Amino acid sequence: MRPREKNLVKNISSERIAVLLSEAKKTFAENPARAQRYARLAFLIVRKNKVRLTKEQKLSFCRKCFSYWVPGKSASVSFDRKSRRVIYKCGSCGYERGIGYSRKTAPHKD
Ligand SMILES: [Zn+2]
Repeated sequence: MRPREKNLVKNISSERIAVLLSEAKKTFAENPARAQRYARLAFLIVRKNKVRLTKEQKLSFCRKCFSYWVPGKSASVSFDRKSRRVIYKCGSCGYERGIGYSRKTAPHKD
């Protein structure tokens, strides 16, 4: 695949992911199971095409079980004073993801 074609695939993928995640958000209240399916689909596209996600998108689903995260519902959010990190905990599998807000955090590091 030529570089330009690769970029095109990535653009389409990012769009699809954005659509899937916004659909998941919309449908979660009425149909959580469907929201989970959207999140899983989005995650599969991410993995297949190695698409970069925005910070917000990264926090909208679980990397381990693909569960769609709604803070306070399918994920719990807490702040760890010691490490100055916000901790998202998956309501389905218990996977924890910490987001640092200190300036020491390297932006390119995941
Ligand atoms: Zn999970």
